[in-house]
Amino acid sequence: VNRFLDPIKRMISFLEMYQQGTVGYERFCEVMAIDPDIKDGKGAEDLEDISGNLEFKSVDFSYNDGEVILKNFNLEIKAGEKVALVGPSGAGKSTICSLLPRFYDVSRGKITIDGVDVKGITQNSLRKNIGIVQQDVYLFHGSIGDNIGLGKIDATENEIERAASMANALEFINELPDGMNTLVGERGVKLSGGQKQRISIARIFLKNPKILILDEATSALDNQTEKYIQDSLAKLSEGRTTLTIAHRLTTIKNSDNIIYLDKDGIQEEGTHEELIGKKGKYEKLYNSEFHGFV
Ligand code: ADP
Ligand code: MG
Repeated sequence: VNRFLDPIKRMISFLEMYQQGTVGYERFCEVMAIDPDIKDGKGAEDLEDISGNLEFKSVDFSYNDGEVILKNFNLEIKAGEKVALVGPSGAGKSTICSLLPRFYDVSRGKITIDGVDVKGITQNSLRKNIGIVQQDVYLFHGSIGDNIGLGKIDATENEIERAASMANALEFINELPDGMNTLVGERGVKLSGGQKQRISIARIFLKNPKILILDEATSALDNQTEKYIQDSLAKLSEGRTTLTIAHRLTTIKNSDNIIYLDKDGIQEEGTHEELIGKKGKYEKLYNSEFHGFV
Protein backbone atom coordinates (compact mmCIF):
# COMPACT_ATOMS: atom_id res chain seq x y z
CA VAL A 1 0.00 0.00 0.00
CA ASN A 2 1.19 3.50 -0.76
CA ARG A 3 1.74 5.06 2.66
CA PHE A 4 1.57 8.57 1.24
CA LEU A 5 -1.95 8.08 -0.02
CA ASP A 6 -4.32 10.30 1.94
CA PRO A 7 -2.09 10.16 5.02
CA ILE A 8 -4.44 11.86 7.45
CA LYS A 9 -7.40 9.65 6.69
CA ARG A 10 -5.18 6.57 6.79
CA MET A 11 -3.91 7.66 10.16
CA ILE A 12 -7.39 8.29 11.47
CA SER A 13 -8.76 4.90 10.48
CA PHE A 14 -5.62 3.31 11.82
CA LEU A 15 -6.06 5.09 15.09
CA GLU A 16 -9.57 3.72 15.28
CA MET A 17 -8.41 0.16 14.54
CA TYR A 18 -5.65 0.54 17.06
CA GLN A 19 -8.01 1.78 19.72
CA GLN A 20 -10.31 -1.14 19.06
CA GLY A 21 -7.34 -3.45 19.45
CA THR A 22 -7.45 -5.07 16.01
CA VAL A 23 -4.15 -3.57 14.93
CA GLY A 24 -1.02 -4.22 16.96
CA TYR A 25 0.86 -1.42 18.64
CA GLU A 26 4.11 -1.91 16.75
CA ARG A 27 2.34 -1.81 13.40
CA PHE A 28 0.41 1.21 14.59
CA CYS A 29 3.57 3.08 15.56
CA GLU A 30 5.16 2.15 12.26
CA VAL A 31 2.25 3.53 10.25
CA MET A 32 1.94 6.60 12.45
CA ALA A 33 5.73 7.02 12.27
CA ILE A 34 5.95 7.62 16.01
CA ASP A 35 8.15 6.17 18.73
CA PRO A 36 6.37 3.78 21.00
CA ASP A 37 6.90 5.55 24.34
CA ILE A 38 4.57 3.16 26.00
CA LYS A 39 5.99 -0.32 25.80
CA ASP A 40 4.93 -3.70 27.03
CA GLY A 41 6.75 -4.29 30.30
CA LYS A 42 9.15 -7.20 30.66
CA GLY A 43 7.08 -10.30 31.35
CA ALA A 44 3.81 -8.52 30.52
CA GLU A 45 0.92 -10.98 30.57
CA ASP A 46 -2.07 -11.45 28.33
CA LEU A 47 -5.35 -10.54 29.95
CA GLU A 48 -7.81 -13.37 29.45
CA ASP A 49 -11.30 -14.16 30.70
CA ILE A 50 -11.57 -11.17 33.01
CA SER A 51 -14.51 -10.19 35.21
CA GLY A 52 -13.87 -6.48 34.71
CA ASN A 53 -13.11 -5.07 38.18
CA LEU A 54 -11.39 -1.70 37.77
CA GLU A 55 -9.48 0.38 40.25
CA PHE A 56 -7.66 3.71 40.07
CA LYS A 57 -5.37 3.85 43.12
CA SER A 58 -3.79 7.16 44.22
CA VAL A 59 -3.34 8.21 40.59
CA ASP A 60 -1.46 11.39 39.71
CA PHE A 61 -1.25 12.43 36.09
CA SER A 62 0.06 15.31 33.99
CA TYR A 63 0.68 15.53 30.26
CA ASN A 64 4.37 15.96 29.42
CA ASP A 65 5.27 16.99 32.96
CA GLY A 66 3.05 20.02 32.63
CA GLU A 67 0.07 21.10 34.71
CA VAL A 68 -1.22 18.48 37.16
CA ILE A 69 -4.47 17.08 35.74
CA LEU A 70 -5.17 14.35 38.32
CA LYS A 71 -3.96 14.40 41.92
CA ASN A 72 -4.49 11.39 44.17
CA PHE A 73 -7.44 10.18 42.09
CA ASN A 74 -9.17 7.09 43.48
CA LEU A 75 -12.04 5.20 41.91
CA GLU A 76 -13.23 1.63 42.24
CA ILE A 77 -15.64 0.04 39.78
CA LYS A 78 -16.90 -3.48 40.40
CA ALA A 79 -17.36 -5.88 37.47
CA GLY A 80 -20.51 -5.04 35.54
CA GLU A 81 -21.11 -1.70 37.28
CA LYS A 82 -22.12 1.45 35.39
CA VAL A 83 -20.25 4.56 36.46
CA ALA A 84 -20.72 8.02 34.99
CA LEU A 85 -18.26 10.91 35.04
CA VAL A 86 -19.84 14.36 34.97
CA GLY A 87 -18.52 17.86 35.48
CA PRO A 88 -17.21 20.93 33.67
CA SER A 89 -15.11 20.80 30.54
CA GLY A 90 -11.41 20.43 31.33
CA ALA A 91 -12.04 18.53 34.58
CA GLY A 92 -10.15 15.48 33.30
CA LYS A 93 -12.96 13.10 32.32
CA SER A 94 -11.48 12.15 28.95
CA THR A 95 -8.03 11.91 30.51
CA ILE A 96 -9.27 9.35 33.07
CA CYS A 97 -10.75 7.28 30.25
CA SER A 98 -7.57 7.39 28.18
CA LEU A 99 -5.41 6.15 31.07
CA LEU A 100 -7.29 2.86 31.30
CA PRO A 101 -6.30 1.54 27.83
CA ARG A 102 -2.83 3.11 28.44
CA PHE A 103 -2.89 5.76 25.77
CA TYR A 104 -0.89 7.55 28.49
CA ASP A 105 0.77 6.21 31.62
CA VAL A 106 0.02 7.48 35.13
CA SER A 107 2.73 9.58 36.80
CA ARG A 108 2.09 7.99 40.20
CA GLY A 109 -0.21 5.31 41.62
CA LYS A 110 -1.70 2.58 39.50
CA ILE A 111 -4.69 1.36 37.56
CA THR A 112 -5.69 -2.27 37.90
CA ILE A 113 -8.03 -4.62 36.04
CA ASP A 114 -9.05 -7.60 38.17
CA GLY A 115 -6.22 -6.59 40.48
CA VAL A 116 -3.53 -6.61 37.76
CA ASP A 117 -1.64 -3.37 37.05
CA VAL A 118 -2.36 -2.34 33.44
CA LYS A 119 1.39 -1.80 33.04
CA GLY A 120 1.87 -5.55 33.49
CA ILE A 121 -0.62 -6.46 30.76
CA THR A 122 0.27 -6.74 27.07
CA GLN A 123 -1.20 -3.78 25.24
CA ASN A 124 -2.84 -5.94 22.60
CA SER A 125 -4.78 -7.96 25.12
CA LEU A 126 -5.50 -4.90 27.26
CA ARG A 127 -7.15 -3.10 24.35
CA LYS A 128 -8.99 -6.20 23.20
CA ASN A 129 -10.80 -6.16 26.54
CA ILE A 130 -11.86 -2.51 26.25
CA GLY A 131 -14.46 -1.18 23.83
CA ILE A 132 -14.53 2.56 23.18
CA VAL A 133 -17.49 4.44 21.73
CA GLN A 134 -16.39 7.93 20.80
CA GLN A 135 -18.25 10.97 19.61
CA ASP A 136 -16.51 11.04 16.26
CA VAL A 137 -16.50 7.81 14.35
CA TYR A 138 -14.12 7.30 11.45
CA LEU A 139 -14.88 4.63 8.90
CA PHE A 140 -12.18 3.36 6.59
CA HIS A 141 -12.77 2.99 2.87
CA GLY A 142 -14.34 -0.42 2.49
CA SER A 143 -17.72 -2.09 2.85
CA ILE A 144 -19.97 -1.60 5.84
CA GLY A 145 -19.51 -5.30 6.62
CA ASP A 146 -15.72 -4.89 6.67
CA ASN A 147 -16.02 -1.86 8.92
CA ILE A 148 -18.13 -3.80 11.41
CA GLY A 149 -15.90 -6.86 10.99
CA LEU A 150 -12.97 -4.90 12.43
CA GLY A 151 -14.38 -5.83 15.83
CA LYS A 152 -13.37 -9.46 15.44
CA ILE A 153 -10.86 -11.20 13.24
CA ASP A 154 -12.55 -13.87 11.07
CA ALA A 155 -16.10 -12.82 11.97
CA THR A 156 -18.71 -14.68 9.91
CA GLU A 157 -21.40 -12.88 7.87
CA ASN A 158 -23.93 -14.12 10.37
CA GLU A 159 -22.04 -12.66 13.30
CA ILE A 160 -21.70 -9.32 11.50
CA GLU A 161 -25.44 -9.22 10.79
CA ARG A 162 -26.28 -10.07 14.37
CA ALA A 163 -23.99 -7.32 15.66
CA ALA A 164 -25.57 -4.83 13.24
CA SER A 165 -28.99 -5.86 14.43
CA MET A 166 -28.06 -5.44 18.12
CA ALA A 167 -26.77 -1.96 17.28
CA ASN A 168 -30.05 -0.99 15.58
CA ALA A 169 -28.09 -0.59 12.35
CA LEU A 170 -29.40 -3.46 10.22
CA GLU A 171 -32.53 -1.64 9.11
CA PHE A 172 -30.72 1.32 7.52
CA ILE A 173 -27.97 -0.93 6.14
CA ASN A 174 -30.55 -3.06 4.32
CA GLU A 175 -31.99 0.07 2.70
CA LEU A 176 -28.62 1.01 1.14
CA PRO A 177 -28.06 0.06 -2.54
CA ASP A 178 -25.65 -2.80 -1.79
CA GLY A 179 -26.66 -3.51 1.79
CA MET A 180 -23.77 -4.81 3.87
CA ASN A 181 -21.50 -4.55 0.78
CA THR A 182 -22.08 -0.81 0.36
CA LEU A 183 -18.79 1.07 0.26
CA VAL A 184 -18.27 3.77 2.90
CA GLY A 185 -15.43 6.04 4.01
CA GLU A 186 -13.49 8.11 1.48
CA ARG A 187 -15.18 7.74 -1.96
CA GLY A 188 -18.02 5.70 -0.43
CA VAL A 189 -21.61 6.67 0.40
CA LYS A 190 -22.00 9.44 2.94
CA LEU A 191 -23.53 8.27 6.18
CA SER A 192 -25.03 10.46 8.88
CA GLY A 193 -23.28 10.84 12.24
CA GLY A 194 -25.92 8.64 13.85
CA GLN A 195 -25.45 5.89 11.24
CA LYS A 196 -21.68 5.90 11.68
CA GLN A 197 -22.15 5.75 15.44
CA ARG A 198 -24.35 2.67 15.07
CA ILE A 199 -21.70 0.99 12.91
CA SER A 200 -19.12 1.62 15.61
CA ILE A 201 -21.50 0.17 18.22
CA ALA A 202 -22.01 -2.92 16.02
CA ARG A 203 -18.22 -3.27 15.89
CA ILE A 204 -18.10 -3.42 19.68
CA PHE A 205 -20.95 -5.94 19.95
CA LEU A 206 -18.81 -8.12 17.72
CA LYS A 207 -15.67 -7.43 19.73
CA ASN A 208 -17.51 -8.32 22.95
CA PRO A 209 -15.17 -6.70 25.50
CA LYS A 210 -15.82 -6.86 29.26
CA ILE A 211 -15.04 -3.16 29.71
CA LEU A 212 -16.71 -0.24 27.94
CA ILE A 213 -15.84 3.42 27.70
CA LEU A 214 -18.63 5.60 26.34
CA ASP A 215 -17.96 9.20 25.44
CA GLU A 216 -21.49 10.45 24.89
CA ALA A 217 -22.32 12.49 21.83
CA THR A 218 -22.71 16.21 22.47
CA SER A 219 -23.95 17.03 19.00
CA ALA A 220 -27.69 17.07 18.58
CA LEU A 221 -29.04 13.95 16.93
CA ASP A 222 -32.67 13.80 15.87
CA ASN A 223 -34.94 12.23 18.49
CA GLN A 224 -35.45 8.92 16.72
CA THR A 225 -31.72 8.46 16.09
CA GLU A 226 -30.88 9.38 19.65
CA LYS A 227 -33.41 6.84 20.92
CA TYR A 228 -31.94 4.10 18.69
CA ILE A 229 -28.46 4.88 19.94
CA GLN A 230 -29.45 5.05 23.60
CA ASP A 231 -31.26 1.72 23.21
CA SER A 232 -28.30 -0.01 21.64
CA LEU A 233 -25.84 1.48 24.16
CA ALA A 234 -28.04 0.22 27.00
CA LYS A 235 -28.03 -3.26 25.44
CA LEU A 236 -24.28 -3.04 24.84
CA SER A 237 -23.49 -2.17 28.44
CA GLU A 238 -25.45 -5.11 29.88
CA GLY A 239 -23.01 -7.34 31.76
CA ARG A 240 -20.04 -5.06 31.04
CA THR A 241 -18.17 -2.69 33.33
CA THR A 242 -19.08 0.69 31.87
CA LEU A 243 -17.44 4.08 32.32
CA THR A 244 -19.52 6.83 30.69
CA ILE A 245 -18.55 10.44 30.14
CA ALA A 246 -21.96 12.01 30.38
CA HIS A 247 -22.97 15.15 28.59
CA ARG A 248 -26.71 14.64 28.98
CA LEU A 249 -27.55 13.82 32.56
CA THR A 250 -30.88 12.24 31.64
CA THR A 251 -29.05 9.28 30.09
CA ILE A 252 -27.04 8.39 33.21
CA LYS A 253 -29.71 8.60 35.92
CA ASN A 254 -29.68 4.82 36.36
CA SER A 255 -25.92 4.57 36.84
CA ASP A 256 -24.71 2.64 39.89
CA ASN A 257 -22.43 5.54 40.74
CA ILE A 258 -22.12 9.11 39.45
CA ILE A 259 -18.86 10.98 39.97
CA TYR A 260 -18.92 14.77 39.86
CA LEU A 261 -15.44 15.94 38.99
CA ASP A 262 -13.88 19.35 38.55
CA LYS A 263 -10.30 20.63 38.30
CA ASP A 264 -9.84 20.03 42.04
CA GLY A 265 -10.83 16.36 41.80
CA ILE A 266 -13.91 14.40 42.84
CA GLN A 267 -16.41 16.71 44.52
CA GLU A 268 -19.44 14.45 44.85
CA GLU A 269 -20.16 10.78 44.37
CA GLY A 270 -23.34 8.69 44.63
CA THR A 271 -26.48 7.59 42.87
CA HIS A 272 -28.68 10.12 41.08
CA GLU A 273 -31.14 10.19 44.00
CA GLU A 274 -28.37 10.64 46.56
CA LEU A 275 -26.79 13.49 44.64
CA ILE A 276 -30.11 15.23 44.00
CA GLY A 277 -30.85 14.91 47.74
CA LYS A 278 -27.50 16.49 48.54
CA LYS A 279 -28.45 19.69 46.67
CA GLY A 280 -24.86 20.29 45.66
CA LYS A 281 -23.05 20.72 42.36
CA TYR A 282 -24.67 17.75 40.63
CA GLU A 283 -28.16 18.89 41.55
CA LYS A 284 -27.38 22.37 40.28
CA LEU A 285 -26.04 21.01 36.99
CA TYR A 286 -29.02 18.68 36.62
CA ASN A 287 -31.52 21.48 37.12
CA SER A 288 -29.67 23.88 34.84
CA GLU A 289 -29.72 21.22 32.13
CA PHE A 290 -33.47 20.99 32.36
CA HIS A 291 -33.91 24.71 32.17
CA GLY A 292 -31.49 24.80 29.27
CA PHE A 293 -32.92 22.04 27.13
CA VAL A 294 -36.64 21.66 27.80
P1 ADP B 1 -12.73 16.82 30.12
O1 ADP B 1 -12.86 15.57 29.31
O2 ADP B 1 -13.29 16.71 31.50
O3 ADP B 1 -13.29 18.01 29.40
P2 ADP B 1 -9.89 16.51 29.56
O4 ADP B 1 -9.47 15.26 30.19
O5 ADP B 1 -10.15 16.51 28.10
O6 ADP B 1 -11.17 17.11 30.36
O7 ADP B 1 -8.82 17.64 29.87
C1 ADP B 1 -8.29 17.89 31.17
C2 ADP B 1 -7.15 18.88 31.04
O8 ADP B 1 -6.09 18.27 30.31
C3 ADP B 1 -7.51 20.14 30.26
O9 ADP B 1 -6.86 21.21 30.90
C4 ADP B 1 -6.93 19.89 28.90
O10 ADP B 1 -6.56 21.08 28.28
C5 ADP B 1 -5.71 19.04 29.20
N1 ADP B 1 -5.39 18.11 28.08
C6 ADP B 1 -6.23 17.22 27.51
N2 ADP B 1 -5.59 16.48 26.58
C7 ADP B 1 -4.31 16.93 26.55
C8 ADP B 1 -3.14 16.57 25.79
N3 ADP B 1 -3.17 15.60 24.87
N4 ADP B 1 -1.99 17.27 26.04
C9 ADP B 1 -1.94 18.24 26.99
N5 ADP B 1 -3.00 18.61 27.74
C10 ADP B 1 -4.18 17.98 27.52
MG1 MG C 1 -13.70 15.30 27.32
